[in-house]
Amino acid sequence: MATRDLDVTILRETVARLIVEANYNIPADILDALRVAAAREESPLGRRTLEQLVRNYEMAAVERVPVCQDSGVAVVFLEMGQDVHWVGGSLHDAIHSGIREGTKSGYLRRSVTGDPTRRLKMAWEPADPKGRPYDVGVVHTEIVPGSGVRLTVASKGFGAENMSAMRMLVPADGVPGIIDVVVETVERAGANACPPIIIGVGVGGTFEASALLAKKAALRELTIRNARPDLAELESTILDRVNALGIGPQGLGGRVTALAVNIEVLPTHIAGLPVAVNLGCHSTRRMRIDRS
Ligand code: SF4
Repeated sequence: MATRDLDVTILRETVARLIVEANYNIPADILDALRVAAAREESPLGRRTLEQLVRNYEMAAVERVPVCQDSGVAVVFLEMGQDVHWVGGSLHDAIHSGIREGTKSGYLRRSVTGDPTRRLKMAWEPADPKGRPYDVGVVHTEIVPGSGVRLTVASKGFGAENMSAMRMLVPADGVPGIIDVVVETVERAGANACPPIIIGVGVGGTFEASALLAKKAALRELTIRNARPDLAELESTILDRVNALGIGPQGLGGRVTALAVNIEVLPTHIAGLPVAVNLGCHSTRRMRIDRS
């Protein structure tokens, strides 16, 4: 098959647009889950909190303002067909320029610091001494079959990100060990993760692969359960365990601590069992577009 030329300008503009839309509009599946949660929460304070969250998100969409003051770190997943050929400039620079433009045009908080040691102040300077823009987000690219492109733009709030965790278990820990890691992570997070949360769990692979898998799991639509019946059942079991902790909406007590547990798995070494838990807050923002 012939290669398909795609201009990075379109990519830059699309990233800029999606970062704004993601910050103004909570995904419909999450908003629906919050409405359902408000109807079934037993705690009066928890119920009121959920109702206020729903109202907040409805107003943000109508008035076109960010859903939360923490516009987070932009995380971009670009799945591109192996027959795609990007033209018109640097793919890397186009994505980061798009994040930069969207952050500015959408009046989003510049939550990213270019230097994690905080010694240098650089991320939002126009360009480095060589004229290239500084990175202002996290980008993952993946080559897939075909000539299509799938772009996912998420804004990751750090209340929840800070409380995420990774453990290298041993095979003997088994499924009970996986459950314990998730439940302990949520218990330790408490109110800091801005519950009700979405729990992404990556099991298997290697150290870094499980963390990436957990991030993808946290961004999976809540209406989708794992296709493997035993893993779908495990998602449900862990959700029940987590919601029995009593942390509740915003940590004020109640039955709804999490909206969903999403598990993804990868093959791993016979001597290991990596488990990563990526927490997403109630302001989990994601937008996807497919271009086939
Ligand atoms: S973790 Fe989420 S809800 Fe909490 S402050 Fe950050 S973006 Fe907002």
